[in-house]
Amino acid sequence: MAAFVKSFSCYRSFSPISKRCITPSTTTIAAKHRCTFTQNDENYDIIITGGGMVGTTLACAIANNRRLECRRILLLEGGKKVEYKPQEQYSNRVVALNQQTRTLLSSIGAWQHIEAIRYCPVRKMQVWDACSDAMIEFNEDHLSEEIAYIVENNLLLHAVNKQVAEKENVTIVYDSKVDNIKLPEVQGGDAKIQLQNGKRYKTKLLVGADGANSLVRQSMGVQYVKWDYSQLGIVATLMLSEPTENIVAWQRFLPTGPIALLPLTDSLSSLVWSLPTNEAKRLLKVSEEEFVDSVNNALWKLYPKDGIVESGLRALQQLLKGLSLRTGVARQLQPSISAIAEGSRAAFPLQFGHSVSYVGTGTVLVGDAAHRVHPLAGQGVNLGFGDVTVLVQLLAEGAINGASLGDMMYLRKYETLRQRYNVPTMLAIDALHRLYKGTAAPIVLARSLGLQLTNAIPLVKKALIQHASGQEVSR
Ligand SMILES: Cc1cc2nc3c(=O)[nH]c(=O)nc-3n(C[C@H](O)[C@H](O)[C@H](O)COP(=O)(O)OP(=O)(O)OC[C@H]3O[C@@H](n4cnc5c(N)ncnc54)[C@H](O)[C@@H]3O)c2cc1C
Repeated sequence: MAAFVKSFSCYRSFSPISKRCITPSTTTIAAKHRCTFTQNDENYDIIITGGGMVGTTLACAIANNRRLECRRILLLEGGKKVEYKPQEQYSNRVVALNQQTRTLLSSIGAWQHIEAIRYCPVRKMQVWDACSDAMIEFNEDHLSEEIAYIVENNLLLHAVNKQVAEKENVTIVYDSKVDNIKLPEVQGGDAKIQLQNGKRYKTKLLVGADGANSLVRQSMGVQYVKWDYSQLGIVATLMLSEPTENIVAWQRFLPTGPIALLPLTDSLSSLVWSLPTNEAKRLLKVSEEEFVDSVNNALWKLYPKDGIVESGLRALQQLLKGLSLRTGVARQLQPSISAIAEGSRAAFPLQFGHSVSYVGTGTVLVGDAAHRVHPLAGQGVNLGFGDVTVLVQLLAEGAINGASLGDMMYLRKYETLRQRYNVPTMLAIDALHRLYKGTAAPIVLARSLGLQLTNAIPLVKKALIQHASGQEVSR
């Protein structure tokens, strides 16, 4: 450690995957914007650790911003570069992106690559409770509007990588796991970073985009509130029994956890199924036929209905009728599954995690490094992209006002704005998870009434859609 904090020596490095060989004291001119970069191996204006979807997008968005395009950015990714081969079968890892994320990806030129390859728009959502007849639909009256986009994670990363490769001021080093971090003690100081292979760097602004187990967050010593859902999220690519106009995202809340089908093509959907850990592990091992039966069972099985819940819902319907509000929904039948794409089953642990602080001296957290949510609302990476949008806006604002990159005033503003959006969203997702876990009649009644009532009031539904689309990100 003592050696690590000592002065950093210059060296020549070459990463086989990085775009270029870096030689100290050479100067490159960014052809497009005529920025002058003094290439110095160890010193970067901004270092981003973690080249996942959020970190890579942030690097690209900073480089793309007119006020920030002359900043030298280093992106350190511990893993290998993600390769994407479009002809192959769909990846089992997909995300539902909201409008705000699409706008961000369009602004950096990445959406165009996704559009040219493949994605699936969602035009309607149907969410229903296995323990009662309560259900809610979103966007059912505006099917021409797209409410979300299903995109493979590796395609998204490929698209952003393509754009970032054009940025002269971004250097990406793969296979570069950050091993040690020394944060600045005073504003304006340098953050010092050491990789597992011994290489060292320093920067005025260190961004932790290094996922849920963020080393940057640990180095900040901030409080991290977390709990385990004791669930795994099983993902898989599923073949529908019959081809259909696949534009609906389906989610059924079962007592064991929600099951969701996200559309990919007319005959394929992506599964995200949250289950208690032991049951999920068992389902990873059963034959494909048994797995398909289990999915169909989860989508279709009739659960015993409680008389109190039934009469409560009937009473609500009468009340809504009296108020001339929507009393029921034209229930669309969910699809059935005929097969699973070979080898597409996988499972991921599900946790809640929130860093009490997103910023420290010369340091800032984005994406899962700052917050992690249950996938039941498809919001995780969208929150991270919201972080990117706001952070870039504020860094640019700081640059216009002549502030230094790690100026705490701007970093604190970022933290306030993002926590104001992220915390209520995360708590609402967690509350939904808890509410739908219970099977006791009063709980089922309360949530069923809530769901039906929400469904009956267009203004409330509109507000929910607006929030989920990330619209409050814009300031
Ligand atoms: C089953 C499931 C379904 C989901 N569905 C959705 C959805 O529909 N919509 C949605 O919005 N979200 C969804 N999510 C959440 C989403 O996947 C995450 O929010 C997202 O992947 C977080 O991206 P990130 O870039 O912040 O972090 P990560 O994807 O974790 O990336 C972090 C990167 O940092 C690198 N790294 C880590 N440590 C180091 C280090 N020390 N040095 C260098 N590099 C390092 C890692 O290699 C990795 O590439 C889902 C999650 C799960 C589990």
